[in-house]
Amino acid sequence: MFNKILIANRGEIACRVAATARRMGVRTVAVYSDADASAKHVAACDEAVHIGGSAPKDSYLQWQRILDAAKATGAQAIHPGYGFLSENEAFASACAEAGLVFIGPPASAIQAMGLKAESKRLMESAGVPLVPGYHGADQDPHMLQHEADRIGYPVLIKASAGGGGKGMRAVDKAEDFAAALASCQREARNSFGSDAVLVEKYAQRPRHIEIQVFGDTHGNCVYLFERDCSVQRRHQKVLEEAPAPGMTPELRAQMGLAAVAAARAVNYVGAGTVEFIVEQPPEGGMRFYFMEMNTRLQVEHPVTEAITGLDLVEWQLRVASGEPLPLKQEDLHIHGHAIEARICAETPDNQFLPATGRLDVYRKPACTSFERADGNGPTAGVRVDDGVREGDAISPFYDSMVAKLIVHGRTRAEALARLDAALAQTRIVGLSTNVQFLRHVVASPSFAQANLDTALIPREAGVLFHQDKVGLNLAVASAVAQTLLAERASEGQDPFSRRDGWRPHGLTVRRFDFEYQGTALQASLTYLHDGALQLALGGVSGLLAFDALPAQNGTLMDLRFLGQRQTVQTWQREEVVHVFCDLGATQIIELDALAHAGEAAHDGGRLTAPMPGKVVSFAVKAGDAVKKGQPLAVMEAMKMEHTIAAPADGTVAELLYAPGDQVAEGAELLKIQAA
Ligand code: ADP
Ligand code: ADP
Ligand code: MG
Repeated sequence: MFNKILIANRGEIACRVAATARRMGVRTVAVYSDADASAKHVAACDEAVHIGGSAPKDSYLQWQRILDAAKATGAQAIHPGYGFLSENEAFASACAEAGLVFIGPPASAIQAMGLKAESKRLMESAGVPLVPGYHGADQDPHMLQHEADRIGYPVLIKASAGGGGKGMRAVDKAEDFAAALASCQREARNSFGSDAVLVEKYAQRPRHIEIQVFGDTHGNCVYLFERDCSVQRRHQKVLEEAPAPGMTPELRAQMGLAAVAAARAVNYVGAGTVEFIVEQPPEGGMRFYFMEMNTRLQVEHPVTEAITGLDLVEWQLRVASGEPLPLKQEDLHIHGHAIEARICAETPDNQFLPATGRLDVYRKPACTSFERADGNGPTAGVRVDDGVREGDAISPFYDSMVAKLIVHGRTRAEALARLDAALAQTRIVGLSTNVQFLRHVVASPSFAQANLDTALIPREAGVLFHQDKVGLNLAVASAVAQTLLAERASEGQDPFSRRDGWRPHGLTVRRFDFEYQGTALQASLTYLHDGALQLALGGVSGLLAFDALPAQNGTLMDLRFLGQRQTVQTWQREEVVHVFCDLGATQIIELDALAHAGEAAHDGGRLTAPMPGKVVSFAVKAGDAVKKGQPLAVMEAMKMEHTIAAPADGTVAELLYAPGDQVAEGAELLKIQAA
C-alpha cells in the first residue's frame, strides 16, 4: 500500500478520498486554487500545495504543476477524483512517465472509451448490445440525415466527445434534423473541440441503468450490481438509487456480465461504470443497450457502497497498489436499498439556473446508522458527502453541487422515508438550492411508486415546480412569532420594558406588513386581556401561540396557529425571514414591521417611543407648525429605522431628547400643542 497519495481534485470527492486514505493510514496531499485556499478539502488532507488561479484551466487542469506537487511532496500515486483530469489519457500516461501511479485505469482503456462513437464500435465487436444507430466516421450531413431516416424518429444526436449531459439533441421528425444537427455540432465544437456526432434511436420510456465494475491487475473483473439514475434534468442525474426497482436477478446477471465483457474488452483496471439505456416497450419487459463507459469513480458511487457494505475508494487504492480484488463475484451481495440526492445550488423554478453565494446557514441532517440484519456490521442510515462548511461560498468557478445526501434502508420505502426526513432537516440560507424540489420529486407519484424513466421530471412538473408546502398562514405566523421572540430576547424580563403590547387599559393592536411570493399583505396582532395573541390576516384569524426552543443560532420554536402545530426554525437576513419546518421551507419579507408598532395603540396620541431604541434625528424644532402625518423624528431599533409622524395638526412645544439618546419603550419624545 502507498504511504502517501496526492488528490488532484477539490470539493466533496477530494474530501471523500481523503477520508478513506486516512482510515487506511495513507497520508494525503491536497492541491488547491486561489478560490480554494481555505477550502474543506485542504483541511481534510495532511499537506496542501497551491497550484494556481481559480479557473480550472489555471489550476486543477494544470497537470504539470500537479505532477510537480506530487514529486515535491513525495506522493507515490495520484487520485484524480471525477471530472477534471480523471478521464484524460495524456495525464494518465504522464503520471506513468513521471514514475507515479495513476489511481485509475490504464491510459489505453481511457482512450478506448473516451469517444462514444469509437467505444460503440468496439463494444459491437465484443458482443455488447448497442442502441440501433449510426456511429461511423462519415460525418456528411446528408448521409447523417439519411441514417436518421433509416433508424426512424425520434432519434438522438450525440457529440462523440461529449459528456456531462452536454452536446445532445433529441429530434422528433425528419424536418427538424438538419437544424438540430447544426446546433449540436456547434455546441460540440465549443465544448469538446470536435464536432463529430453519432445518431441513435431514442429509446422508449428510457431508463438509465448503469453497472459498477471493478478490475485488477491480476485479470479479475467483477460487477457490483446496478444503479438506476433515470431521474434527470437536462440529461444530468438528480437522484440515483440501487438496486434498480423492477430489476430481475436474470436481467441483473445479463447486464452485469455484459458490463464485465465491456471492461475486459479494454483490459480495464480499477473502478469503472458501464452505462446502459434500458428501453421499456409498451408490451412490457426491459431491453438494455450499451450507452458509454465512464472510466472513473462516479458521483453516485455511495449508493453502491451502501448496498454492498464496501468502500470503493479502498478498493481503488488496493488495486492501484497491485493487490488483487478483495472479493470474488460470488461473495458480493445486495443488502437493502440506497438512494442518493444531489443537493445543488440552483433554482429549479427558473430552469434550474445555477446559483452562487455564501452558505450563511448550512445545517445537515443527523447522520445515523443501523445494524444490518445479516450481522455484516453497521451501515450508514444517512450519510452526507460534501466539500463545504457553513460560511463557505459556492463560487462560479466550479460545479454547483453542494452536497450529496445518501440514505440506506432495508426496503425502498424505508429509504424513501429516510430521504424525505433527511431533506427536511437540511437547512441552507444564503443561496438557492434544489432541496425542496428534491422533496417534491421524492413525494411525486412516479418516484414514490418507482414508475421510473428519464421523463419523470417533465411528467410530474405539476407537483414539482412552484410548490410551497409551508403556506401563507404558517409563514406569517412564523415571521410574527420570531419578531416577538427577538424583541423579548433584546428586552429582558422587566414587564414594563416589554414590547409585548401589555397595556393597563384597552387592547393593543400591531400591524405587520409582509410580502409573500410577490404579493403585499397585512397582518394584525391583537394582545388580548388574558395575555393571549390573536393573529388576523387575509380574512382568517386565530390564536397564535409559540414557545422558544434552545437553538445554536436562528430561532427555533414550537408554533401553534389555526390548528397547525409545527417545530419551526427561522433565520432573518435583512428583511427576509427564512422559515423551515417539516412541511418544507419558504421565505417571507417583513416590510418595515417596526414602522407600525404601537401605531394603533389607544394611548391618546402621545408621541412616545414604540420600542426601546435610539433617537436618530428630529425633523422639527420647538415652535414649528406641523401637519397631521408629517415626519417628526426618526428612531432606530433592531437595525431598522422607524419614523414617528404627527398624529394631528399642531405646534411643536418641546423636544424631550437629543439625537443619539437611548430611550425606553413608551418614553415621551416630544410635546405638541394641538392646533
Ligand atoms: P453523457 O456523456 O453526457 O453522460 P450519455 O450518453 O451517458 O451522455 O447520455 C446521457 C443521458 O441521455 C442518459 O442518461 C439518458 O438519459 C439520455 N440518453 C442517452 N442515450 C439515449 C437514448 N438512446 N435514448 C434515450 N435517452 C438517451
Ligand atoms: P457521474 O456520471 O459521475 O454521475 P456527472 O456525469 O455529473 O457524474 O459528471 C461528474 C463530473 O464530471 C461533474 O463534475 C461533471 O461536470 C464532470 N464532467 C463529466 N464529463 C465531463 C466532460 N466531458 N467535460 C467536462 N466535465 C465533465
Ligand atoms: Mg453518461
